[in-house]
Amino acid sequence: MKEVRPLGEALKARVADVLVLTVARTRRLGVDAELQNSTERISKISTIALARWLAGEGPEVAREAGTETWLFYGELAAHRAAPLRKVIMHCLCWRDAVAEVLRQSAAELHTSPGALSEALYMLQQGLEFGFVQISESFDTERQRTDEDLAFMSTHDSLTGLPNRTLILDRTEQMLVRARRHKTPIAALFVGLDNFKSVNETLSRGAGDQLLRLVAERLDEVVRVTDAFGRVGGDEFVLVAEELPPEEQPERIADRLQEVLKEPLTLTGEHEAQLIVTASIGIATAPRSSAEELLRDADIAMHQAKWDGKDRRVVFESGMQYAVQSRTELEMDLRDALLNDEFFLVYQPTFDLRDMSPTGVEALIRWKHPTRGTVQPDDFVPLLEATGLIIEVGKWVLQEACHQVTKWRDAGHRIGLAVNVSGRQLDTDAFVTDVRDALSESGLDARALTLEITETTLMQNLEETTRRLTAIRELGVRIAIDDFGTGYSSLAHLQRFPVDALKIDRSFIAQLKEGDEGRTLIRALVQLGKDLSIETLAEGIEQQHELSVLQEEHCDSGQGFLYACPLDARAAETFLQTEANNATPPAGHSTRPSGRHPVTTEGARLTLGPGPNSHVQASAGRTVGARIARGSRSRSPRDPGPRPS
Ligand code: C2E
Ligand code: CA
Ligand code: CA
Repeated sequence: MKEVRPLGEALKARVADVLVLTVARTRRLGVDAELQNSTERISKISTIALARWLAGEGPEVAREAGTETWLFYGELAAHRAAPLRKVIMHCLCWRDAVAEVLRQSAAELHTSPGALSEALYMLQQGLEFGFVQISESFDTERQRTDEDLAFMSTHDSLTGLPNRTLILDRTEQMLVRARRHKTPIAALFVGLDNFKSVNETLSRGAGDQLLRLVAERLDEVVRVTDAFGRVGGDEFVLVAEELPPEEQPERIADRLQEVLKEPLTLTGEHEAQLIVTASIGIATAPRSSAEELLRDADIAMHQAKWDGKDRRVVFESGMQYAVQSRTELEMDLRDALLNDEFFLVYQPTFDLRDMSPTGVEALIRWKHPTRGTVQPDDFVPLLEATGLIIEVGKWVLQEACHQVTKWRDAGHRIGLAVNVSGRQLDTDAFVTDVRDALSESGLDARALTLEITETTLMQNLEETTRRLTAIRELGVRIAIDDFGTGYSSLAHLQRFPVDALKIDRSFIAQLKEGDEGRTLIRALVQLGKDLSIETLAEGIEQQHELSVLQEEHCDSGQGFLYACPLDARAAETFLQTEANNATPPAGHSTRPSGRHPVTTEGARLTLGPGPNSHVQASAGRTVGARIARGSRSRSPRDPGPRPS
């Protein structure tokens, strides 16, 4: 109808008026400011589109021009930027605004009532067309958003890998297939070692970057059929089905560990090259559920961490009790120091020449409220893992220094050895702790020996050396504990300010196996002599062992044969008895060369891990020559001056 055209032209000229009216109407609906901006734009475009149609350009033109606005409305609603109801209301407001302007224009132009109703009809048609478009757009957008949501709920946002939910789901399906086809299936739980320290020492950002790099690395060696994902902070899981006979889960674990060996490069603020190791737990089906399979792999992973990290462990029944028990212990440990549940026992050390006591080693025990006395092997690693060892180690130093000062004041010429963990040596506060323990107790620094394992010495080489040097300047002695079991080469003896080597008891235990054991002892003792370092043999349990050590001129000893670890009262009695039995003139000793063990504490007669350690005695001389030139003034046998 031709008469409609002037109305179209009029509308084109009054786009701004439509907008004002629409805004006024939508305000009453409470549309937010942000949405208001977009709706203004939409309102303009739709008005122009409709005006062109009314002005005779044909419905296609209008439709095309209008489509953009309707699609946009649909998206708004689908993304929940505006509720669909509000979008519709907004369209209705626009329609009413346009109708009002059309009516005004019709009055001004004296358009026939038929033309006006035709124009209003076209407006309504345009709107309905718009509604259809909005619904279509809404549906597609909704679907896309739902897909996004579905992806997000089954994947880890940091690495893009499947998350726990999806892994469990896929594992459940694998278990069904495995049951049906009787094929093997294995879950590998991968926990990064010491990841926390990356977060702590670098930053969260660096930690995230590292996790992404690790995810990529591990993903490289995963087969397409495997389920691989991230299930926790620093934990990944790989579930593999239909394993061919040559592809044992242990081999997969080896591959995962192998691929991590190449350093990872962090970029940006914390540029660094890091080598990451992982502990891997393996569990194989049949299992009744995916949850169970992953749980067992997780338990085995914790066991691998406990066994020293950077290794793989296959789940065995019984493991869960050990892990659970450790978790419970860990919780109890937090209260133990507050509740005064720790106490010390003292194991005497003795001079191998005349069997006189030279000192005591302080060893910690935990009187657990329900479990009874817990041995250090069962809780010192937990103290270390939780960092509690710093506080507890400080207490050990103070307590032992006080006790030994009392004994020295009573006339016993003894030294004190205290065990120190790696974590304690991580900060300068340790040097202060040692100084404080000495000054508060009044113990002569030269009577104190700190025992540090080889592995501890190896960590953080530079800082450790600096701290140990500071401690040694106080007059305190340093001994290498469990010597021969760690990685330390002779180069370390040269580097560190060491006063004594405690030959690990696995070497003493080997003495019964014949000549080879004796050769090793001879080499170690000779090494000490070359370096002017005292040698102390630990774990002497048998008369035969004692005799060999004496023949090889080892300096001092410790072990159940001489005395077990004793509580403070029993240790005092022991020292007193020794003092009473002592015969004054040297060389006229009537002491037997061995004695019945004193077993007050009821120590366990278990042997520790006895790795086949190798000692490179041949390198000893060069090292010895260099160390001997240093300012080593004390005789290696003398644990410091004793009160006369
Ligand atoms: P360690 O420093 O090597 O201590 C010697 C261990 O050997 C002690 O075990 C002692 O009871 C045991 N032992 C002594 N003589 C014999 C023997 O003739 N035969 C056998 N089989 N064993 C003997 P304990 O007291 O269970 O301590 C175990 C480890 O716990 C210690 O090994 C030490 O590494 C750690 N530890 C103990 N107390 C402390 C402490 O206060 N601080 C820290 N950081 N570690 C401690
Ligand atoms: Ca020790
Ligand atoms: Ca030891």
